Amino acid sequence: MSVIKDVLAKVKQIDPDQPEFHQAVEEVMETLEPTAKRHPEFVKANIYERIVEPERSMIFRVPWVDDKGNVSVNRGFRIQYNNAIGPFKGGLRFHPSVNLGIIKFLGFEQTFKNALTTLPMGGAKGGSDFDPKGKSDGEVMRFCQAFMREMFRHVGPETDVPAGDIGVGAREIGYLYGYYKKIRNEHTGVLTGKGLEYGGSLIRPEATGYGTTYFAAEMLATRGLDYKGKVVAVSGSGNVAQYTVEKVNQLGGKVITLCDSSSTVVDEKGIDDKKCTYVMELKNVKRGRIKEYADKYKTACYEGASVWDVIRDQGIKVDIAMPCATQNEIDASHAAALVKNGCICVAEGANMPSTPDAVKIFQENNILYAPGKASNAGGVATSGLEMSQNSMKISWTRDEVDKRLLIIMKSIHKACVETAETYGKKGDYVTGANIAGFIKVANAMLAYGVV
Ligand code: NDP
Repeated sequence: MSVIKDVLAKVKQIDPDQPEFHQAVEEVMETLEPTAKRHPEFVKANIYERIVEPERSMIFRVPWVDDKGNVSVNRGFRIQYNNAIGPFKGGLRFHPSVNLGIIKFLGFEQTFKNALTTLPMGGAKGGSDFDPKGKSDGEVMRFCQAFMREMFRHVGPETDVPAGDIGVGAREIGYLYGYYKKIRNEHTGVLTGKGLEYGGSLIRPEATGYGTTYFAAEMLATRGLDYKGKVVAVSGSGNVAQYTVEKVNQLGGKVITLCDSSSTVVDEKGIDDKKCTYVMELKNVKRGRIKEYADKYKTACYEGASVWDVIRDQGIKVDIAMPCATQNEIDASHAAALVKNGCICVAEGANMPSTPDAVKIFQENNILYAPGKASNAGGVATSGLEMSQNSMKISWTRDEVDKRLLIIMKSIHKACVETAETYGKKGDYVTGANIAGFIKVANAMLAYGVV
């Protein structure tokens, strides 16, 4: 067996109950085979086995009191995956599906993604099985405070800098940061995604959606194409989805879908800027359901179905697919339907939204396909820019941050394309992203010796 196959076998054997983690490791490791041949020094130093093992995993009790005075307990996680190239960095996810395997898959992916950004950031991820949906602001605040009561001892601006993810947006970051500031008695860049009034960066809320759209524009340009007049399917309706819609509109595309975990709306006329502003208000302020969009704009609404189910079952034609909800939302049947219906490009705003079988179908059909770790890296890249501004105690303008984001997305695209070519896999963004991210982290690990 090859070194890589040995590592995969061991991961499955020692953590048999973590399917998402196995999936993420398999997807990366399979593409790294050629690096083992070119870099015997990585094999000798056992980098492949060391890189799949997190530096440190914290699992903790989060007790909190609801509005009725009942005491609830959730499980908190922080996985500090790899800090070879910079402080640990990665978001927090609050969602009932959160477990150790999901946080590990996200932390593992984050390590390579952060390396691709060109900025000095290691990889981490955390979160809880707490569900913010249906909770009052007071309950969310008490939960965040209880979460930080444990997490504060593991994080810091030079150690580990968490941010948002599913279920953790501006409100939650405010509560987490406020409590850290209180108990540490210091105002420091320990979290990113902060409000503008207390150290946040312009464009950070927009960054993941904008960055994914910039990345897709780069992919389209390799075939002389752009967004103008293209019909785009976006899934989700949270942070990433909202700003993906905004940027696609700016670049001349037409987004026709959004969803949440209850239903999918299809608006053939397009979700224009005015409708997008309505979605932001509905989701971020009213905390309502996407079905209300269909009621307001009299559009089609499919309850209990994902965007990809609807595209498959209704035969809807889209040129570009941008999954921005969650992992494994696109399976082989969805991928086959997208190909059949004329889709030319798939850019992942979410982390690992396509199953391995779906990815295979995209690649076999010559679809422009980029994995999330490359296409959605604009979010963490702009978090890196927020950290720089915090360290220097300055604030860049909106235009300055947006320009830097665009430059970073172009450079990630270039690194993917060039690395894929170097390894004889022209046009394969999966191989390009994995190898480019890996080489940087592996070289740093090698430099440190065995630590
Ligand atoms: P939000 O919580 O803001 O939005 C998530 C959206 O996806 C909601 O509409 C939610 O619906 C929907 N969703 C979540 N889980 C499911 C599910 N199981 N089935 C169907 N719909 C679901 O999260 P973000 O927009 O921040 O994150 C979306 C994706 O982007 C995630 O994969 C995340 O890891 C990734 N990402 C986020 C970054 C960021 O900066 N925020 C950076 C890089 C990647 P509902 O409201 O019903 O739960």
